[in-house]
Amino acid sequence: MRIIVQKFGGTSVASPEVRELVLHKVKRAREQGFSPVVVVSAMGRKGAPYATDTLIGIAQSAFKQIAARELDQIMYCGEMISAVVMAGTLQAAGLEAVMLTGGNAGIVTDANFNNARILKSDPARIICLLRQGKVPVVCGFQGMTNEGEFTTLGRGGSDTTASVLGAALNAELVEIYTDVDGIMTADPRIVDNARILDCISYAEVCQLAHQGAKVIHPRAVEIAMQKNIPLVVKSTFSDAPGTLITNIAKEDISNAVVIDRVATGVTYLTNLVQIKVQLAGTTASDASYKVFKTLADSDISVDLINVHPGQIMFTINADHTDKAAEKLKQQGYQIEVLANCAKVSVVGGGMREVPGVMANFIEALSNNTIAILQTVDSHTSISALVPQNDVGAAVKSLHEKFGLSN
Ligand code: ADP
Ligand code: ASP
Ligand code: MG
Repeated sequence: MRIIVQKFGGTSVASPEVRELVLHKVKRAREQGFSPVVVVSAMGRKGAPYATDTLIGIAQSAFKQIAARELDQIMYCGEMISAVVMAGTLQAAGLEAVMLTGGNAGIVTDANFNNARILKSDPARIICLLRQGKVPVVCGFQGMTNEGEFTTLGRGGSDTTASVLGAALNAELVEIYTDVDGIMTADPRIVDNARILDCISYAEVCQLAHQGAKVIHPRAVEIAMQKNIPLVVKSTFSDAPGTLITNIAKEDISNAVVIDRVATGVTYLTNLVQIKVQLAGTTASDASYKVFKTLADSDISVDLINVHPGQIMFTINADHTDKAAEKLKQQGYQIEVLANCAKVSVVGGGMREVPGVMANFIEALSNNTIAILQTVDSHTSISALVPQNDVGAAVKSLHEKFGLSN
């Protein structure tokens, strides 16, 4: 059996007209000799009646502090509705489609509600349906604990469902259908002349995704990478070939150029605050352990960490500002909070040991009088914290400076 997993995001299942396009993609896969497994997200984006954001709004507008377990029980409903409607669409066209929840599809998770980790994936039921010539239509984003509780896999987690099933079924390919023609050098909502990347390595796309490119969930990439399952990100709305995500080192020589590109893309993360902790009279290492332990105990993750004698700087998600400030003040620390920050990053598998990358990065921002509040770099990325108001200008100028524009 040649198995293909086809995942359709929110905009790809939002209306009857678009669901016809999905039907066409599923039929074509069958004509090409594949046994397709369909994974769907909740229908539409923010504002649509059954979109995940709408469901969260229903719970949180009335009950701001609603517990994570209860929030999951409303969040997973969007994918239920979507999978039923999609299965109905396929059935109406004569295909034997069977709607499955994440639990039905064998996805077992821990009980970390809202961001559950997958413990195992047992594809037996899906294999049985495929052998009977049926088309499983699986709710993305969902898992189930060993105790039978519904969980969700973190925002954007339908991609993770697709990858997990692809890995468990040893699929030939996982297709991630969305509303853009592939992974681009920057978010096309910010940069008009961003380019589609024909192919990209798992490592590069992981970096892009972790640094904010919402086009694919980083865990989906990590899971596919572990089993070397190729992923293709492509559009439901066109026949463009999309972006192949693979272990490029194993591909043919024509892809070798990809490994060497200094910059692959520019990404951004918003809704951050910078916190500076003053360390009077303590050693940096002793105090930083206590500061970071305090935050870890409060379940707050930190990023962009700089530790200096006398001061520690880091960023957190703005939603955790009050909690972090309260906990650190309780420990007697003097802190400064700078709100409305964003992180911009240039990602590239080939930037290691290339002179001038940092100079270009700084020049692009300073030429546009964008304040650099902090920087951090790794062998495949350079990032800066900038005022959130400047994030669009920062992304555009870095995209231009690193030669990524069309
Ligand atoms: P879906 O609902 O199909 O999963 P998402 O909204 O999660 O769709 O992801 C697709 C969106 O990701 C695109 O509409 C695009 O605006 C955004 N995006 C952000 N960064 C990139 C990028 N580097 N390349 C392509 N799309 C990007
Ligand atoms: N519907 C979920 C979300 O909006 C999962 C997904 O779309 O991937 O986060
Ligand atoms: Mg998505």
